[in-house]
Amino acid sequence: MSIAAPTMQAVGCSRLSAAEALELYRDCPIHELGRRAHAVTLRLHPEPYRTYVVDRNINYANYCTAKCIFCNFKADPPGMNTGRKDLPEGYVLSFEKIGEKIEELIAIGGTQVLMQGGLVPAEMLPFQWYLDLLRFIKREYPGIHIHAFSPPEIHAFHEIFHMSVRDVLLCLQEAGLDSIPGGGAEILVDRVRRRIAQGKTSTEQYLHVMREAHRLGMRTSITMMFGHIETLEERIEHLVRIRDLQDETGGFTAFICWTFQPGGTPLGRVRGFEPGHAGAPDGKHLVLADAHEYLRMTALARLFLDNIPNVQSSWVTQGVKIGQIALYFGANDMGSVMMEENVVSAAGTTYHLTEQQIRSAITAAGWLPRKRNFYYSIIESQ
Ligand code: SF4
Repeated sequence: MSIAAPTMQAVGCSRLSAAEALELYRDCPIHELGRRAHAVTLRLHPEPYRTYVVDRNINYANYCTAKCIFCNFKADPPGMNTGRKDLPEGYVLSFEKIGEKIEELIAIGGTQVLMQGGLVPAEMLPFQWYLDLLRFIKREYPGIHIHAFSPPEIHAFHEIFHMSVRDVLLCLQEAGLDSIPGGGAEILVDRVRRRIAQGKTSTEQYLHVMREAHRLGMRTSITMMFGHIETLEERIEHLVRIRDLQDETGGFTAFICWTFQPGGTPLGRVRGFEPGHAGAPDGKHLVLADAHEYLRMTALARLFLDNIPNVQSSWVTQGVKIGQIALYFGANDMGSVMMEENVVSAAGTTYHLTEQQIRSAITAAGWLPRKRNFYYSIIESQ
């Protein structure tokens, strides 16, 4: 298996329209949706194994100028006051601390770091800091793949350092950046983004960063966070935007979706998602996207995104059992062992698995477990 695995188009399947996708999502029984998605996965990934990667999240700084109302991770930078009393203390990790984290990762056989932070003001971290960080990691830990800086961060660099997105990417790439995570996509529809992610990229800005990265030969993942204020039509539109860009560039390695985690976030409180809350203030009953809906969305994404080779299971938000079932609803990969996770867990999600637990989960689900690298190449003997 590799990112060059065949796509549905290549194996002769016809492409779903947005209207067909909506109809499937609304009307198709869940077991049938899963059966269809799994049939596609088996054609794309006929191997008897399912994969995972051992990596570590390093959130290098949590100062952030954006005001995402689903986020409990950020801290207001000096001089900014969002009025939220519940935000954590701000921090910027030292290179020494980041190095310690990477050494812990290497000690357990890890191969990549996922580094993301807030949108940190230029006065706090100059562009040189990011370049020095990448060079430090490449010099001290040359075998580590650096998967870092989501499109909102790259776009912020473009704005605050007065450089084109392409130049930002070129400089980061030259300093050692290997690939870009698809974080911060949420739902790629501006109506939604304006309401839940003020101060972050628009849909076009997000996709522009991805397009430029792909043009420079960098591969990226792409994500979706759903189950908050978006409509079903907007979920489909999100998938359309991803599929269209993939037709153009072919740069996405994998799609990962997860459900909004409301725990203690302003969005969770305002919209009445909190456990035990009977309904939103406007009288409408809002139902948090549950495991059932997660599986439907994963299956639909596998069917719709016919040009993206890999779909990851999101056990971090859904738990290991649903993560295993997702391997029969369109996912071919268990994602990351994720030695450390700070963003989703700040909103109350606490699932953690060791590498051995992930291997056991894959085995129990009926597959051989195989460790991979970022490019979905197997890195253990079979
Ligand atoms: S989700 Fe990211 S961009 Fe939004 S407030 Fe949190 S740290 Fe900032």
